[in-house]
Amino acid sequence: MKILKTVSEVKEQVKLWRGEGLTIGLVPTMGWLHEGHLSLIKNARENNGRVVVSDFVNPLQFGPNEDFDNYPRDLDRDAGLCEKAGVDVIFAPSVEEMYPEGFCSYVDMNGLTGGLCGKSRPIHFRGVQTVVNKLFNIVTPDNAYFGEKDAQQLAVIKRMVLDLNMNVKIKGCPIIREEDGLAKSSRNSYLTPEERSLAPIINKAMTRGKEMIQGGERSSEKVIAAISEIILSVGITKIDYVSIVDSLSLEPVDTIERDILCACAVYMGNFARLIDNFSLEI
Ligand code: AMP
Repeated sequence: MKILKTVSEVKEQVKLWRGEGLTIGLVPTMGWLHEGHLSLIKNARENNGRVVVSDFVNPLQFGPNEDFDNYPRDLDRDAGLCEKAGVDVIFAPSVEEMYPEGFCSYVDMNGLTGGLCGKSRPIHFRGVQTVVNKLFNIVTPDNAYFGEKDAQQLAVIKRMVLDLNMNVKIKGCPIIREEDGLAKSSRNSYLTPEERSLAPIINKAMTRGKEMIQGGERSSEKVIAAISEIILSVGITKIDYVSIVDSLSLEPVDTIERDILCACAVYMGNFARLIDNFSLEI
């Protein structure tokens, strides 16, 4: 496995692989890898000749008061996990390598990004789209792997690829959870032991919401109220949102009568903002 830090090194490597007729799978990450990332890597490993993992905390997708500086980073640790998982190349560029002086081009979207996480993180998806575009242009993957944990991100990337006629297949992978149901996340490392013990309530509440809909409840308002009440019942005080939206347009729905995404974001402690979701075909 190679750790490459420059765009030109990756392009050179990709050229050699293409010469051998190999397909390429890309797994974009911000590092501090866990089993969620490893499930994407496994999927990529099984379906491509070569696998590239990008390991880059992208400043463009963090707002001014967010956790860019505190985000956990450890390339050696990530490299050990990637090596074991059969990754061929880790692309770990510096911020200057990705955004050299004079950088001023962005990729943005008019729909899909205004609600859910986009509401409290207004520049987030522009940053995600821009870095993912750059990675696609650098690595030219046949397949790129994204987690359903970031459901809005997955929808945005799929739409961008469709709208801009990009030659890459986007593969969504299921949410990997801790045994107690908490969705695995690099940001779980921010939680104090007490916060960690409360955090599984998020998935418990979402599961209750899912059961309500599966049991015939069609009022989004009632389901959202029930989920919020369960989360708040353990002393968590700050919910960013609980929303039920159309799974394609991501527009809020009042009456649940077509395929939906139910998603939430919850603040815990100083830095942690935890997200979770489920989708249902109606
Ligand atoms: P991140 O490093 O948090 O930007 O995540 C990189 C990729 O891993 C994204 O496509 C995430 O959706 C995905 N991912 C993160 N956590 C999980 C999880 N618990 N289950 C599945 N995919 C995940």
